[in-house]
Amino acid sequence: MYDVLVVGSANADLTVRVERRPGAGETVLGTDLVESAGGKGANQAAAAARIGGRTALLARVGGDAFGEMLLAAQRAAGTDVAPVIVDDAARSGTAMIIVDPDGDNSIVVSPGANAALSPRDVAAAQDTIAAASVVSLQLEIPMESVRAAAAAAERAGTRVVLNPSPAPEAPLAPELLAVADPLVVNEHEARQLSGRADGSPAEWARALHEQGARSVVVTLGGDGALVLDASGSEDIPGVRVKAVDTTGAGDAFTGALATRLARGDALPEAARFAVRVGAAAVTKPGAQPSYPTLAELAERAA
Ligand code: ATP
Repeated sequence: MYDVLVVGSANADLTVRVERRPGAGETVLGTDLVESAGGKGANQAAAAARIGGRTALLARVGGDAFGEMLLAAQRAAGTDVAPVIVDDAARSGTAMIIVDPDGDNSIVVSPGANAALSPRDVAAAQDTIAAASVVSLQLEIPMESVRAAAAAAERAGTRVVLNPSPAPEAPLAPELLAVADPLVVNEHEARQLSGRADGSPAEWARALHEQGARSVVVTLGGDGALVLDASGSEDIPGVRVKAVDTTGAGDAFTGALATRLARGDALPEAARFAVRVGAAAVTKPGAQPSYPTLAELAERAA
């Protein structure tokens, strides 16, 4: 049995800091390359495993050094990587990240092996999906595979946490939205998917609930989150910290939320815990390397 099965992406994050991001045709010098494990799926799995969730990851990585690095990072976090497919015909997904002194970045993602994670891979993992309390999904793998995973979870009676990120141009398929319990969106995704440029987080959440999501969580950066389900909405206050790097904060939140829902928490209770995990994650650089263990969270609270 797993608390959380993440079906999603794994990317090697390749980061270089520059004085100025280059324009067209320009070459600039940067710092030494920093390689770290990323990708929304892999990040959420690492966050869940670090806080003690029994976690597995269904993803595809290339048969290359980045693939080995991504697997090693998951194993170190405590994730069961048995479902991960090592695809010798593909390169691992990579995100090439250029960061300037203001912290603004330009990112090019090469999906690589993530683009080959197919509905057939999902069908082959049906037993693993049925063995999980929660399946956590994002949108960095083909949409047809996300839909296949959502449908398989629904058939198996496994709860679906859906983080529609990166925000899609087109509205979500109604049958995908209908299994989201919750749909986890940041403010940008909430605006885009609710179709309301203006309004408040509670209004976006209500609109998404009316569109079919069973429950909705809107993450609000340093201001915490708002949760909404059939019984109403609740503001979950933020935790005040000195933010160093917010990369992967949303994934830390979602991985933690999925774990606590799997353990039986009600949505507001799970979100209160996830806000603490997200806040801890912004106090350290990087995505996965910044994710706290339960012991580290307890220390922060002390
Ligand atoms: P990212 O894209 O940076 O991964 P996101 O836009 O998906 O993040 P946010 O709403 O910015 O998601 O952050 C997710 C959670 O992380 C918040 O609910 C909160 O718990 C925590 N968090 C983010 N930024 C801060 C901050 N400055 N101070 C405290 N907590 C933060």
